[in-house]
Amino acid sequence: MRAVEIRNYRQPFHYTEEREIPSLRPEEVLVRVEASGLCLTDLHLAQGRVNLGELPRVPGHESAGQIADVGSAVADWRIGEKVLVLVDVSCQNCLHCLTGQTQRCRKLRRIGFERDGGHADFVAVPARNLISVPQSLSFEDVATLPDAGGTMYHSLISQGKVGVGQKVVVLGVGGIGIYGVQIARLAGAEVLATSRREARLAVAQAHGAIPVNPLKESVQEAVKALTGGEGADVVADCIGTEESVREGFALLRPGGKLLIIAYIDDDFTFPSIPLFSQEKEVIGCRGCNKQELITTVNLVAQGKIKPVIGAHFHLSQINEAAKRLEQGDVVGRIILTR
Ligand SMILES: [Zn+2]
Ligand SMILES: [Zn+2]
Repeated sequence: MRAVEIRNYRQPFHYTEEREIPSLRPEEVLVRVEASGLCLTDLHLAQGRVNLGELPRVPGHESAGQIADVGSAVADWRIGEKVLVLVDVSCQNCLHCLTGQTQRCRKLRRIGFERDGGHADFVAVPARNLISVPQSLSFEDVATLPDAGGTMYHSLISQGKVGVGQKVVVLGVGGIGIYGVQIARLAGAEVLATSRREARLAVAQAHGAIPVNPLKESVQEAVKALTGGEGADVVADCIGTEESVREGFALLRPGGKLLIIAYIDDDFTFPSIPLFSQEKEVIGCRGCNKQELITTVNLVAQGKIKPVIGAHFHLSQINEAAKRLEQGDVVGRIILTR
């Protein structure tokens, strides 16, 4: 089959047409991937920032497709069904799994990380990782939900508890941040979104955000104006640099929540006195559980969230796609087609 591989760290992705189709365990399903989303994390993986185990590894943690085969122990799925794949393969038996917080499972083997992912013609996944996709939606409509869409739902709604009348700042409206704008608006919040790219700000504005370009105006002043000087209830940092985290922290009202959804720098620092005296909260946010992803799919099916796809590349053009993503001028997510 055709597949993208990470063969060695700090090398370009390797495209092959000769990879073996994965064999199935009894509880697994083979998915013929029709569309997969390219994430900045895929580029981090190729750089060796996460231990992927034995190489070559097929990346790709946002995949949608059709069931091509089912393992001998799978009773409730049929060949041809349209499906989306939850990223986290969790242990189902730890404190976190048993309380529904599968994204915190310490024994995770994530699809597209510690096990092979969807930047290929086929991917083998446990049947319990499948989510049914309504016929009204295309593969492309849902492909970016397992990470970008679901992560923003988990971050803002479950972690940030965003609700009606709140003031939310989304730092960095890229492929993931644009979902944040839509979800926070849907939850009834007023949203201010930042980017240094006018094209991204225009899309954020079209989805109901107040656009702010930090190259042209002060984010601090814009947040003051929005909140009457109080500060934001929630800041969602989709950039993940030392600078963005410090800035996001400073934008919070006392008791406000800083959601950290991205990681570029290895360490973040905060001034200690406001953290203490203003009881600000700093919250890590990663991925989503199955119900959060199902809810996100339903919101897309109802037309309440619209996936923003910025570019399409064929699987074989993986390195061109990666270059475009790194340049930062794509508005929305990049889809790899077959
Ligand atoms: Zn990702
Ligand atoms: Zn677990």
